[in-house]
Amino acid sequence: MAKEKILIIEDEKDIVKMLDYNLRKEGFRALLANNGEDGLDMMRKEHPDLILLDLMLPEMDGLEVCKAVKNGTETAHIPIIILTAKAQETDKIVGLELGADDYVTKPFSPKELIARIKAVLRRVKEKEKLPEVFKIGDMVIYFSKIMVAIKDKPIELTSKEFELLKILIKAKGRVLSRDYLLDTIWGFNQALEIQTRTVDVHITTLRKKLKNESKRIVTVKNYGYRFELDLDEN
Ligand code: CA
Repeated sequence: MAKEKILIIEDEKDIVKMLDYNLRKEGFRALLANNGEDGLDMMRKEHPDLILLDLMLPEMDGLEVCKAVKNGTETAHIPIIILTAKAQETDKIVGLELGADDYVTKPFSPKELIARIKAVLRRVKEKEKLPEVFKIGDMVIYFSKIMVAIKDKPIELTSKEFELLKILIKAKGRVLSRDYLLDTIWGFNQALEIQTRTVDVHITTLRKKLKNESKRIVTVKNYGYRFELDLDEN
């Protein structure tokens, strides 16, 4: 399994150094940004599993960053742990109201923070866990068996097609960009034209195989795809 990526948005060099060291020691991949703008850029590019966010940042402050993450359709699910100073009690509450998942007060021990990170990641995974069997319309997906059936007939999917279907279902109707799909399924960091087409090609073959249920995979022009859960109501 790939290392989980933790994005640190913090301007205090000593704290960044300490976090970087401790996260790597625990087997995480640490991404570093020392201001809000860079942090958001990095988040959009790297899709971290969790963000450690200092509230007192130069220029764009931590609460603004928090709002930007939680307002993005593709990023709202990324958990945030706020790093605050004692004097920022009210900001901490605002941060939690804006959707942050937890907070630690400076000074904190690395051990305590790592425990919080693990707890938040565990909670998120639990929430995102898919049922063993997912039924929608004429389609049944057996996640553990990596199998799909339509009207009780098994459908042959390649592993990439299956992963694509799974990640779209997991997003619960959220739009996923081609870049995100490329990065998550194929591990391509830079979306070159030819690689972007890989996603489209796989979507096309997946749709063909899903027959009548293919209409659930909706194209969002010049951006990406989403999975429609609510066709049955029509
Ligand atoms: Ca700071």
